[in-house]
Amino acid sequence: METLFPPEIQALKEECERYAQEELAPLAEKLGEIDDVPTELRDSLGRSGLYRHIFPEEYGGYGTSAVKICVAREALAGVYGPADTTLAMQGLGGYPIVLKGNEEQKKKYLPRIASGELLSTFCLTEPEAGSDVSNLQTSAERKNGKFVINGRKRFISNGFSADVAVLFARTPEGGARSISAFILEKGMKGFNVAHRIPLMASHDIVEFEFKDLEVPEENLLGQVGDGYKLSMHTLDLMRMSVGAAAVGMGKRALKEAIAYSKKRVQFGSPISSFQGVSFKLAEMATDIETARCVVYLAAAKKDKGDPQASLYSSMAKMQGTEAAFRCIDQAVQIHGGVGVVKGSPVERLYREIRPLRIYEGTTEIQKLIIASHLLKG
Ligand SMILES: Cc1cc2nc3c(=O)[nH]c(=O)nc-3n(C[C@H](O)[C@H](O)[C@H](O)COP(=O)(O)OP(=O)(O)OC[C@H]3O[C@@H](n4cnc5c(N)ncnc54)[C@H](O)[C@@H]3O)c2cc1C
Repeated sequence: METLFPPEIQALKEECERYAQEELAPLAEKLGEIDDVPTELRDSLGRSGLYRHIFPEEYGGYGTSAVKICVAREALAGVYGPADTTLAMQGLGGYPIVLKGNEEQKKKYLPRIASGELLSTFCLTEPEAGSDVSNLQTSAERKNGKFVINGRKRFISNGFSADVAVLFARTPEGGARSISAFILEKGMKGFNVAHRIPLMASHDIVEFEFKDLEVPEENLLGQVGDGYKLSMHTLDLMRMSVGAAAVGMGKRALKEAIAYSKKRVQFGSPISSFQGVSFKLAEMATDIETARCVVYLAAAKKDKGDPQASLYSSMAKMQGTEAAFRCIDQAVQIHGGVGVVKGSPVERLYREIRPLRIYEGTTEIQKLIIASHLLKG
């Protein structure tokens, strides 16, 4: 894959890998399993400058680039899952403002999200609206120059630590199917974490409850009714990068499996000398490298404005997460009993990869999207 990277992308890849190894790995060791975004992680990611690849230059970024976001996520995810999640959430919470924010909103929020001063999140999913997001029920009704929001949002990543959120809610004034987007700020009255959700792997994730949350009209993003398309366009930028993060995790598992298979001796030989093990390594490497190709193809298409980017983005998300899951499972197998001991890198990866096959559209939903592109011709 590197053969196809221009020098600028190769340099970023090396910079990200250096950051991940030299700064993030010791931090991961120190912080361990977490369910929020500790200040040290927040500060470190902010200093790394990696969020800036999500945002335009005029608002504190280096220019939005799907390829660069993928390079960064691939490097971070294999080293520390929560760092990767935080990078992704800056995109999911910040990019809707790039797409639909007015000048005032962009100036107010984007430079601070790009620098890491503010952490952002994206509130779309509800208890009764997961894959079927168009069924969301949270409502926003205009009263006395404000929008009054009532409802719940479930599985919101970085919801505990985020300072700002983009929320999608039904707006009856725009018609029965109208969904609009709003910028929320921590501390607004009625914007409450209902409870944190304990996950199988490190993740800051919550359910929100909104009770008569009053949002000023100036926090409406775009026009009433713009919300549904805005959520989909935001996911279009970030979806292939879930595949990139998965590839990063799969590559780490492969590296661990190779090292272990060379040092573990059974029947008088390193287990890597048994074809049953070495063939596994060959399949894992091929699976992951194939996934990487479609991830970067999708990202390059997105950066070029190719109309097929959305199709390839779904392929990249599905192939990246499924291949990484297979690869990590085999890495655990190669480690034998050691692979399921809590705290070993492959055991952690086995838990961390699982949600990636679910969030930002499950594998089944990616298949629906891919099939609908194919059938439309
Ligand atoms: C770790 C994690 C982080 C998340 N972070 C966020 C976040 O920050 N913000 C946010 O808004 N959301 C977030 N989500 C929510 C996530 O996007 C949803 O969980 C996901 O879209 C699936 O919705 P659901 O859980 O309600 O499952 P459901 O939609 O109930 O699906 C259950 C099963 O049915 C299948 N299914 C559903 N419909 C179909 C169909 N038409 N055809 C075939 N199969 C189907 C699904 O593939 C799945 O296997 C997160 C979820 C997780 C697990």
